[in-house]
Amino acid sequence: MSFKTLKKNSKTTAAKLQEALQGEQSGSAQASDDRLWYPELDKAGNGYAVIRFLPAGEGEEIPWVRKWHHGFQRDADKKQGSWYINDCPTTIGKNCPVCEANSELWDTGTNANQNLARNRKRKINYFSNIVVLEDPKNPENEGKVFIFRYGQKIHDKISERIDPESEYENPVNVFDIWNGCNFKLKIRKVEGWTNYDASEFETTSELFEGDEAKQEEAYKTECSLKEFASPTLFKDYDELKEQLNRVLGTSLPKKTRTPVVEKSEDEDDFETVEDVDVDEEENDDVAEEENNDVVVDEGEVGTGVEKSAMDYFQSLADDEDK
Ligand SMILES: [Zn+2]
Repeated sequence: MSFKTLKKNSKTTAAKLQEALQGEQSGSAQASDDRLWYPELDKAGNGYAVIRFLPAGEGEEIPWVRKWHHGFQRDADKKQGSWYINDCPTTIGKNCPVCEANSELWDTGTNANQNLARNRKRKINYFSNIVVLEDPKNPENEGKVFIFRYGQKIHDKISERIDPESEYENPVNVFDIWNGCNFKLKIRKVEGWTNYDASEFETTSELFEGDEAKQEEAYKTECSLKEFASPTLFKDYDELKEQLNRVLGTSLPKKTRTPVVEKSEDEDDFETVEDVDVDEEENDDVAEEENNDVVVDEGEVGTGVEKSAMDYFQSLADDEDK
């Protein structure tokens, strides 16, 4: 829609977004992308920034996409071995060799195999366009539009504002330029865990204090989230299977190395796994690499220019299990 129409519609309720939250649309994204912004963490693992979520860009309906992925190491206990880091094709309704192998592991009924399945389970990330308002570590980012990748905890905070549980609170479309609100991203290490609890939305305000030229420029600079959701970005089944076998090598229980017969019930069975293990204390210690296309060798993780991104993505991975 045009900027004018966007402004005209800004007062409409958040019903559309509430609906979307209930139905959730699936999507995908490539992470190896300089359009992505992440908060740089200090040595203690703390981070701070103020960002503003932007409305859905031109030709798009929902201001976020979500994507499942897997990120795990061959030997999770010893924290060694190659990494498997790939988008999960179940995001776009296709079969995933890891999810299938997890179902098999789970069905064996042994603790060891079920722990393996937990360690390798799919995890969710969301992607939205944002304006970075304050970035103390990298002030050159301030005022610019990026895509922000975040986990369930922050998505829950967004949901709670758009569709509050309490009837005494007014719904706020936090993505709105005129009636949305800034988001204070506060990342802390609490007892060794990355924690987002202190993050909060500020009170309602107009983006850029009402500077319409800057607002319009931000809107027009938004990246297409549809591109992130494109099924063409997902690797096909055979390629993923080959990578999985390569990463797991001989440590993979023999039965899961044989070709997996597609069984649609398997995925459903495993869904229940995600429900039962929600409250478990897990430290997957899963690092993530910006480029989802590669199998990362142990020695490469966390080195070089991607170190800061790694810190953040690591923190996201930690967060998802809390
Ligand atoms: Zn999967």
